[in-house]
Amino acid sequence: MSELEDQYQFGDPTTRYPRVRPPVQQQDEPGVQTRMNPVPDLGENSYRGTGRLTGRKALITGADSGIGAAVAIAFAREGADITISYLPEEEEDAQHVMGLIRAAGRIAVAVPGDITNAEHCRFLVAAAVEKMGGLDAVVNVAGKQVWQKNLLELSDEQFEATFKTNVFAMFWIVKAALPHLGPGSRIINTASLEAYVPAPDRLDYASTKGAIINFSKGLAQQLVSQGIRVNVVAPGPTWTVLQVTSGVDPETLPEFGSSESPMGRAAQPAEIAPAYVFLASAESSFVVGETLNVNGGMVTP
Ligand code: NAD
Ligand code: MG
Repeated sequence: MSELEDQYQFGDPTTRYPRVRPPVQQQDEPGVQTRMNPVPDLGENSYRGTGRLTGRKALITGADSGIGAAVAIAFAREGADITISYLPEEEEDAQHVMGLIRAAGRIAVAVPGDITNAEHCRFLVAAAVEKMGGLDAVVNVAGKQVWQKNLLELSDEQFEATFKTNVFAMFWIVKAALPHLGPGSRIINTASLEAYVPAPDRLDYASTKGAIINFSKGLAQQLVSQGIRVNVVAPGPTWTVLQVTSGVDPETLPEFGSSESPMGRAAQPAEIAPAYVFLASAESSFVVGETLNVNGGMVTP
């Protein structure tokens, strides 16, 4: 989709990518990105690395598609080895990303499995440490979002699954990773504009995003004296498979991201990834407990 030379190209951000006007479409969770119309831009043809993460070893969840996949591609091109976490149903998307990590000349480790299971989270971290020979960046991007207009129809099962995917897994993964993280390591979690501006049809999802920011600010204070920096990226509406797997009301898809954003369009995953690169790089050495909002101009507290 992108005709950008690379992410450093100047120009008008409102037209950097065309406004997506996706037809109504729906897949079962977690969905396969290559079956989307249009297919999101992960920066495959545009992200240019400049050695900002040379020799780093990163574990990235939800890295088969969308924002996590764009982060994995960017990190690999910046010189990092990568372990990607995703669900077994997403193997097709995962292989696309694995190929691009390898093409960047970096180690690529794939660990499919369900992060709502604490045991799997511990296995995932152990596998990352073993296969990459260490770990110094933990990037939690995986997430679950399912719209539901009515509180009375929001099932106990969905509420619990959303919290397990978005909050508990982050806790389990960070806890398992911490003994391996030395000074200079970083943890980056993924919130959302929803943390401050909750849509009425995603109470479970929005409240997990508030929890992620709060947890991260506290953890950042706990870990900074060990030389470990914790920060958050909070994207706004971004064209990903999450949106077509019951993330939003499918009838609203043709207008996705265009009405609420001052930018007049949704983001592409490729536009979110550089925020993670900044927080993972040594350039952000004095940035701690921060939430970097990447939302096209929507007002945040
Ligand atoms: P995505 O569907 O491409 O990525 C989400 C990933 O989460 C999936 O690929 C899947 O691998 C992983 N995942 C979900 N449940 C899992 C489970 N039980 N076990 C293992 N992995 C699981 O969608 P995305 O939009 O790129 O989402 C990435 C993150 O960005 C999420 O945390 C989401 O909340 C956040 N976010 C997205 C938007 C947006 O508009 N797309 C906006 C703000 C925040
Ligand atoms: Mg996916």
